Amino acid sequence: MNIGFQLYQLQEIDTNLDSAKKRIGDIDALLENNVKVINSQDNLEKAKKQFISNTNDFNKINDEVQNKKIKISQSEASLYGGSVKNPKELEDLQLEISSLIKSIQKLDDALLEKLIQLDQSEKLLEKCTEEFIKAKSDFATQNALLMGEKISLSEKIQVIISKRQSTITEIDKSTQEQYGRLRKNKKGLAVAKLQDDTCGACGAGLTASQRQEARSATTLFVCPSCGRIIYGSS
Ligand SMILES: [Zn+2]
Repeated sequence: MNIGFQLYQLQEIDTNLDSAKKRIGDIDALLENNVKVINSQDNLEKAKKQFISNTNDFNKINDEVQNKKIKISQSEASLYGGSVKNPKELEDLQLEISSLIKSIQKLDDALLEKLIQLDQSEKLLEKCTEEFIKAKSDFATQNALLMGEKISLSEKIQVIISKRQSTITEIDKSTQEQYGRLRKNKKGLAVAKLQDDTCGACGAGLTASQRQEARSATTLFVCPSCGRIIYGSS
């Protein structure tokens, strides 16, 4: 068999092997990459804190309003109950009630503002919860797909390796070494095809006798320009 053709086949096998291995590396990186889950969890924690803080603020103001309302009814009971007769005391009670009413009005404004914030933070919390659930589910789905792909790639690699072993037995050791060195130095492309009258890798023109050598079944022809093995089908 044409030695150049054998090396060309070997290179195809090695290219497939490299790309399968590279994809497994990419898959391993993707399996570890749960940035979206982590980010959405962070957002959810922040939204929870904000919601709790707004709830506490709201309750605090609301308690204050309720306390003042109790105070008003107590003062009103004293004012209209008849137990207090002293005009100065009665006047003080009236002043106290009107001052309490004023401060309740102010607190009601604050309460309304807090209620709006509380409503917003509740909506944000719902949104963040949904996003977190979705991120987790997407991650699980993606990982299941990637794991499936990884398993079939591993099986494919086993097939490629056995194909490589049977191919390489037909190639002598020194040619294997030459191929190995070239493949390493030429970024995976050790063997180029003869394309018309040129080297398929670097495009250098070849003479008629060089092309003849490239088509030879027994000897290897190396491109005088780029140093790669050129294989020409005869
Ligand atoms: Zn070349």
